[in-house]
Amino acid sequence: MATGLAGAEAVAAALRLRSRLALVTGGGSGIGRAVCQRFAKEGAAVAVVDIDEGAATETLRTLHRDHQQHSVFVADVTSSESVRSLVSQIQSQFSRPPCVAVNCAGITMDSLLLKMQEEAFDRVLQVNLKGTFLVTQAVATALIASGAKKGSIINLASIVGKVGNLGQANYTASKAGVVALTKTSAKELARYGIRCNTILPGFIDTPMAAKVPQKVLDTVLRLVPMGRLGDPSEVADVCVFLASDDSSYVTGASLEVTGGLFM
Ligand code: NAP
Repeated sequence: MATGLAGAEAVAAALRLRSRLALVTGGGSGIGRAVCQRFAKEGAAVAVVDIDEGAATETLRTLHRDHQQHSVFVADVTSSESVRSLVSQIQSQFSRPPCVAVNCAGITMDSLLLKMQEEAFDRVLQVNLKGTFLVTQAVATALIASGAKKGSIINLASIVGKVGNLGQANYTASKAGVVALTKTSAKELARYGIRCNTILPGFIDTPMAAKVPQKVLDTVLRLVPMGRLGDPSEVADVCVFLASDDSSYVTGASLEVTGGLFM
């Protein structure tokens, strides 16, 4: 006769990220914070990574602790030295490399193409695209060296990387680059069991979206079939899917989380 699992055991068995270690960049704000919170509830240990220690510590304070311990790490994703040191600190603290990495660190520095300063172009490419490359490379290297047989890398691009957007030559180029980088990573890393996927959010209610002028947001909202901004938790839900075995045959994909915008 089947006895079934009782109480806490049954809950633990149902957790989709049980025993996984996840690194989340941009973990101090917006989508990154929501991903940390959701991953912790799903049983993952979370390395909350941000350039802003105070913000990352605030995220840490909100994390569910029944299943795993979590930690804050300060890193600048534009610096290879900082990213290498980040991965080695995580490995020494948790005695293993992260098998899930979510690249949420990102910035905007908007202006029309004809007025855009070279520095604004370079800086946005450095954080959004180079940062994603450096973290992908460092995590994949550590995972392969550890002999782990599977991993999941999730990169935050944007729907505007597909369709362009006024005032965002730098940002849209960086996000189109993230999609191409992810597809190449997926092709190269599949043999090591590492899946790489991109999420293309539309307009999500975070501090980044709060910088968009209300007039522009109102225009965008008229174009969103679902008629509202997304909530960061709705992007985090898709991250859980991509981080878990529920997506075991999904790699190189770009998932749109847009409420139907620009479909
Ligand atoms: P957010 O609230 O501004 O959070 C981004 C986080 O990344 C901030 O904590 C930021 O710290 C951190 N960060 C910036 N530069 C960094 C660096 N060099 N190293 C490490 N961390 C750094 O943004 P979000 O809205 O959650 O966006 C998360 C990701 O989703 C981004 O890649 C964004 O492009 C993408 N996305 C967002 C939307 C949206 O509507 N919100 C739409 C499409 C795509 P500071 O605050 O100190 O700079």
